[in-house]
Amino acid sequence: MNTPTDIETTPAPSNFIREIIRDDLETNKYGGRVQTRFPPEPNGYLHIGHAKSINLNFGLAAEFGGQCNLRFDDTNPSKEETEYVDSIIADVRWLGGDWGDRLFYASDYFEQLYQWAVQLIRAGKAYVCDLSGDEVRRQRGTLTEPGQESPYRNRSIEENLNLFERMRAGEFADGARTLRAKIDMASPNLNLRDPIMYRILHAHHHRTGDKWCIYPMYDFAHGESDSIEKITHSICTLEFEDHRPLYDWYVEQLGIYHPQQIEFDRLNLTYTVLSKRKLLTLVQQGHVNGWDDPRMPTVSGLRRRGYTPEAIRNFCRRVGVSKTNGTTELGLLEYFLREDLNKRSLRAMAVLRPLRVVIDNYPDGQVEQMEAINNPEDASAGTRTVPFSKVLYIEQDDFREDPPKQYFRLSPGREVRLRYGYFITCTGVVKDEAGQVVEIHCSYDPATRGGNAPDGRKVKSTIHWVSAEHAVDAEVRLYDNLFKVEDPNAVPEGQDLTVNLNPNSLEVVQNAKLEPSLGGALPGARYQFERLGYFSADPDSAPEKLVFNRTVALRDTWAKIEKKTK
Ligand code: ATP
Ligand code: MG
Repeated sequence: MNTPTDIETTPAPSNFIREIIRDDLETNKYGGRVQTRFPPEPNGYLHIGHAKSINLNFGLAAEFGGQCNLRFDDTNPSKEETEYVDSIIADVRWLGGDWGDRLFYASDYFEQLYQWAVQLIRAGKAYVCDLSGDEVRRQRGTLTEPGQESPYRNRSIEENLNLFERMRAGEFADGARTLRAKIDMASPNLNLRDPIMYRILHAHHHRTGDKWCIYPMYDFAHGESDSIEKITHSICTLEFEDHRPLYDWYVEQLGIYHPQQIEFDRLNLTYTVLSKRKLLTLVQQGHVNGWDDPRMPTVSGLRRRGYTPEAIRNFCRRVGVSKTNGTTELGLLEYFLREDLNKRSLRAMAVLRPLRVVIDNYPDGQVEQMEAINNPEDASAGTRTVPFSKVLYIEQDDFREDPPKQYFRLSPGREVRLRYGYFITCTGVVKDEAGQVVEIHCSYDPATRGGNAPDGRKVKSTIHWVSAEHAVDAEVRLYDNLFKVEDPNAVPEGQDLTVNLNPNSLEVVQNAKLEPSLGGALPGARYQFERLGYFSADPDSAPEKLVFNRTVALRDTWAKIEKKTK
């Protein structure tokens, strides 16, 4: 498995596809051309697995001065929608994919595909079959047994042409007939056992409307679409390796341009489901708030959560490609996220669970503007001022009335540093009837402004704060993994994926207090809340009601685990 701890020590991952392209350029196999494509089916939103494919296809094209097309494989009108098309276009663009004017649809090729089907019928290589889908499946045989030939296999070419034309004309009911390739019912490769090329489906297509009532199967459309677009390197995931002989068969029988298919491993991530079908179920059953819920591994969910395209691209590059499927640690993705956010995020102070602090010896009504560094990683980000006053909020977690041994933050009699502020010492606590501490009292040392004592005395901890009078309120949404087990797809007999859902994947904090500079944060703005993590303003956020998502906590949970196991 790829873990963040490997990162510094292992060499850059292999990219055997790059080597193939390099060799092809050297031998001038495609006249110096590199033409790739990203071929999503518009039946759901893109996820982080698709990002790997996008990064590969667009990345390799850019690296070798080639081009990458965006092509929708829209051959299944019953599951496809324009909403998905629109979201996919937005997501590929956001990830940095540039297809120029080469946005294509397999449905643009329906007429050509029909003509090619007719060509195969004429050559005696395809026939109309009257078996039902179930019967075709039953007669297909198994890995150890050959399939049975269809009783309709030897229909005359004339009859096939006539029936296929009438299929197109809408004379037959859904499922009544199919067009099948005439290959070999005894082939060890099940995909070559007279696969279905066309089926009857009286369904409205999001682009071609009601023009067609027969639709090509994905396997018949895909290779030919690649051929039409003169794809040089048709890069896809390993499960299509067994389909390659079929794609090859079609283009060879048709005598058309032959693209080269290269397979790589699908991305799998721990604690994550990467299947549009399963993600759709989560959306439909209301386990998440839509495809772009920040807990979803969709590109739109990651974006809403605060991920950057750069973090995702760096992750994809690091994951590389191989010829065997494996599972990558979610922590690796978060590693690249933190690494990128650390460089670009402005720092700010925010208190998620406020505890009131009154500084008794601080002058009533006085406000000081303390200078704070915007980003220690980027001097050009400059500084800002943060107001300091007599009543502040600190994090409830940063105070313990009865501190354990290793606890160095605020407690009665203890002195700590307020970041960019003063040293304060806790002098007393106020409790409610239930005995809960609701306010603490402190004194401050005016000589420690900015955070250092002229007499050189040290404090063991620095905590963050916001001025009560100046704070802006916010809702903050804290996320944990959507699934509580490493492999959410491992489901006990008779149950479904939802048994593995993490009931605590979302925690909403209602009354967080933020420093006033965050009052104008626009949706999408990213910050590091000091000591807490990286946060991003949600699209729900508005000036009168700020809403922030925690993109990722600051501390690398990995570093912790590592320490424990050392
Ligand atoms: P899903 O199983 O999630 O529905 P899919 O493969 O059916 O995915 P497509 O829309 O057909 O989804 O995929 C478009 C491209 O993205 C294909 O080339 C596919 O191989 C690739 N792809 C899909 N999932 C992954 C993944 N997890 N890792 C890498 N590439 C992927
Ligand atoms: Mg697919």
